[in-house]
Amino acid sequence: MMDVTEVGATLATRLAAVRARIADAAARSGRSPSAVTLIAVTKTFPVDVVAALSALGQRDVGESRAQELLAKDRALEATVRWHFVGRLQRNKVAAVVGRAGLIHSVDRVPLAEAIGARATGQGRIQPVLVQVNAGADPAKTGFTLAEAESAVDRIRAIDGVTCLGLMTIPQREGDPRPAFGRLRALRDDLRARFPEVTHLSMGMSADYEVAIEEGATMVRLGEALLGPRTPDA
Ligand SMILES: *Cc1c(COP(=O)(O)O)cnc(C)c1O
Repeated sequence: MMDVTEVGATLATRLAAVRARIADAAARSGRSPSAVTLIAVTKTFPVDVVAALSALGQRDVGESRAQELLAKDRALEATVRWHFVGRLQRNKVAAVVGRAGLIHSVDRVPLAEAIGARATGQGRIQPVLVQVNAGADPAKTGFTLAEAESAVDRIRAIDGVTCLGLMTIPQREGDPRPAFGRLRALRDDLRARFPEVTHLSMGMSADYEVAIEEGATMVRLGEALLGPRTPDA
């Protein structure tokens, strides 16, 4: 059983260290630290960890499985801003729409249609990001850079959905910086046409400082904050 006090102390230390590194990277890109939102990705960790994060003032929390987000949201007494960052099946949309403040991972138009239909039924507009495979990694989902602009056009036109930016997961091998730069250039083009397309969700534990230097407005950190996950997760 995990000692929550001890977890809280370790978390506080890690959170402070990560926040300092975020501030430094933001300064290197000529931005204020407040221009970068830290999302703590708590997948596989118990809901107590989410509660501890919330108690430390960390309000943005991410999950990559719909059922896990739903279960933690129901169990949690604190209020957090949920982000859904994983691959979303259409039959799991109901667990996430309205519960997640932002769905980062819209990687196909029919998924956006399902999200829009659900949100419209609830009288909501669901904020989403469009996932782009900016590193052209065959193992990753997401629109290609070539497809992304028309995908944003189509997704913007769907009732019940608002597209606030782009998200990417870089390939594990090699320098992620070029892919981050390409995503930023695409966001700049889109923002010139659609002012609400502002966010760049890019950067994980291994590369968040590079992502911030390249303009990330959101970084999604699991292991850098929480320590190693169990391998099969
Ligand atoms: C798990 C996950 C993260 C966090 O990964 P770390 O390497 O632990 O920082 C970020 N984004 C997505 C989409 C994830 O699935």
